[in-house]
Amino acid sequence: MEFEAVIGLEVHAQLLTDSKAFCSCTTKFGSEPNSNTCPICQGMPGSLPVLNRKALEYTVLMSLACNCRINEISRFARKNYYYPDLPKNYQISQYELPVAEHGWIEIDTSSGPRRIGITRIHMEEDAGKLIHDERKPFSYVDLNRTGVPLIEIVSEPEIRTPEEAASYLRAVHSILVYLGICDGNMEEGSFRCDANVSIRPNGQRELGTKTELKNMNSFKNVQKGLHYEIERHGEVLGAGGKIVQETRLFDPSTGATVSMRSKEQAHDYRYFPDPDLLPLRVEPELIEKMRGSLPELPREKKERFVRDFGIPEYDAGVLTSERSLAQYFEDTVAIFPNPKSVSNWMMTEFMRALKGQDAGVVSAPVDPENLGQLLKMIEDGIISGKIGKTVFEEMWSSGRGADQIVKEKGLVQVSDVSELTDIIRTILDENPNQVARYLGGKNQLLAFFVGQTMKATRGKANPQLVNEILLVELEKFRN
Ligand code: ADP
Ligand code: MG
Ligand code: ZN
Repeated sequence: MEFEAVIGLEVHAQLLTDSKAFCSCTTKFGSEPNSNTCPICQGMPGSLPVLNRKALEYTVLMSLACNCRINEISRFARKNYYYPDLPKNYQISQYELPVAEHGWIEIDTSSGPRRIGITRIHMEEDAGKLIHDERKPFSYVDLNRTGVPLIEIVSEPEIRTPEEAASYLRAVHSILVYLGICDGNMEEGSFRCDANVSIRPNGQRELGTKTELKNMNSFKNVQKGLHYEIERHGEVLGAGGKIVQETRLFDPSTGATVSMRSKEQAHDYRYFPDPDLLPLRVEPELIEKMRGSLPELPREKKERFVRDFGIPEYDAGVLTSERSLAQYFEDTVAIFPNPKSVSNWMMTEFMRALKGQDAGVVSAPVDPENLGQLLKMIEDGIISGKIGKTVFEEMWSSGRGADQIVKEKGLVQVSDVSELTDIIRTILDENPNQVARYLGGKNQLLAFFVGQTMKATRGKANPQLVNEILLVELEKFRN
């Protein structure tokens, strides 16, 4: 029997507000443990939560970007469980009535773009952090993160392969970062994902029993973990067994998943409406204000880049994957209006250099103006494309402009015909054997002469001119 996989993802994203979701404590990272706390986020009896308006605005922004319907009234609910990092013994979340529902985003798949449904987007608060020190018989609790606002974005079970799951996650990640509402840092846990997966015989509508992989913190691990689970489900069902509904953990060191808790041990959270928080009414004015502040989103930008700049879809996808990268591209094109050449340079030299440094595009030592200048010098024939690459490296390491480096190092391209002809004649005279073999039909030797000329001019000869002159000069040897 042939099976197909069914995948649904739950993404938790930390919102970039200055203060926490229900109190005015700062969300600043890296402070002294428990210094960013107050009676509300410490869960003191009698303290009352007040919703952070910015957190709501960000949630609405994401909901609109995901084409969701925003509920006029939504509710906060208490999700009850006992754990030392949760001082109230409940997490404020949303249950029956989330802020937004019924949306979709478009993702790239191997068979073209496809819409994946978004079931819901709701607000909640983060828990604290436990710090374990193996040399001590106890653990520490740091409540600085307690109460930091999160949104949870739940997809429909419409994803079919681990690759699509990764593509979906990249799309959600990219939208959040574009909107400026999440830093997207996966190592620090600002963006994490639970992956749900089941399989079913091809053609069957009913969903199979799912397992859930908790707290995946890299696109690659999500993909690996899902592959493992799909394989495992197939083996169990193929041998006539049954899948147990459970939560599992992916171990990156073994590439396998292990059971964490089964359905019988699953938490019964006993959600109920939080009596401390009034039902939330999202005013139409707020929705319209947020709609008006939506930036151009990654996919729209990508389509525009293909349409207006005529660059390949793949390049457009890479260049729009980050807002700052796309901005850099457009700024450079404004200075040097040859989009294809700018894109080629950014996809190769620029990206390579960027990978070598920790900081992002905005702190790149070569700014759009300088890159534009360099490309102009290449186009004008002042330097060759090859020398251009060396100049670029020098610009990157020194932070200086292209013209300055070219002047100082005497890198200006040799385009003087008589000067090049002299050099070429000398080379041909010094290599009579190669000349004879060339004339005997070994055309590939042209590259040898080009190479020699480049060597003699330390790469500065205009390659096109060198080719032209060589052909003429070699012919002169025929008689
Ligand atoms: P839970 O209550 O266990 O969290 P939900 O119904 O809320 O389950 O769904 C959570 C996520 O799991 C959603 O993204 C949903 O699309 C996905 N999902 C639900 N059922 C299945 C299934 N049978 N196979 C794969 N994914 C599923
Ligand atoms: Mg779940
Ligand atoms: Zn607080």
